[in-house]
Amino acid sequence: MINARGVRPRIGVIGGSGLYDLDMLDDVESIELDTPYGSPSGSITIGTLRGTRLAFLPRHGLGHRLSPSEVPARANIYALCELGVRRVFAISAVGGLAERYAPGTLVVPDQIVDRTKGLRPATFFGGGVVAHVSMADPFCQRQREHLIAAAKSAGHTDVIDGATYCCIEGPQFSTRAESHLYRSWGLDIIGMTAVPEAALAREAQLCYAGLALVTDYDCWHENEETVTADMVAQTMRRNVRAAREVLEEAVATLDPSGDCECRHALTGAVLTDPTLIAPDRPDSPGPPSC
Ligand SMILES: [Zn+2]
Repeated sequence: MINARGVRPRIGVIGGSGLYDLDMLDDVESIELDTPYGSPSGSITIGTLRGTRLAFLPRHGLGHRLSPSEVPARANIYALCELGVRRVFAISAVGGLAERYAPGTLVVPDQIVDRTKGLRPATFFGGGVVAHVSMADPFCQRQREHLIAAAKSAGHTDVIDGATYCCIEGPQFSTRAESHLYRSWGLDIIGMTAVPEAALAREAQLCYAGLALVTDYDCWHENEETVTADMVAQTMRRNVRAAREVLEEAVATLDPSGDCECRHALTGAVLTDPTLIAPDRPDSPGPPSC
């Protein structure tokens, strides 16, 4: 049998609240990495899932020690790229802002509204280099379709295709007035981590799709309990089994070698005169070269 160790993982999984490890991996190794943007959330587990090598990173660190505002998203994306990852599945716990997003529902969002407070480093550029990537469609459409098909194959036929993810700063949950406001805007689910992770994945020219697992109804629902951390944790434990089933199917059937427009996201995006870009910029190392 060929030892899978040494094969570069092309697929990355970022685990959210409740998903801190993937217990179905073989040939597991744990890697500590440092990046020009600091250390990622924790050690990265590389393992084999049904013949495919993948890298797993728990977004909030082992033991859930990093708040959403503290997640080192630049280091996380950079580290996954360095390992060879080209496609990322991002798992997250969210609240439902409409009746159809009931606890236990699986959602593959297609849009994001940023309600964070601008405190999170959100670009690999700056420091003399200006780039504007398109975020019109913040998730990789091909990978979204793949994830939806995988969820259905895994028996989760009621997976919801498309939703607008409202990303708040946290760590507190919304006020009731905010929750009603987001609903009035037509936003569908609410979480704390898609920003700036999705934008950084785009700047790194990765394919990135999210699997959101609904744990609660936030605080707008008149007939349901207002969200608490304990409620999120309890429902997430049940949701984690579903997330693992979907991931197993998604990873086993994904061809990580194919081209995608995400791989060319930086084409034409840098507006800075190239003759003015210093080759060595220790204060602004730029995006990873995946
Ligand atoms: Zn893509």
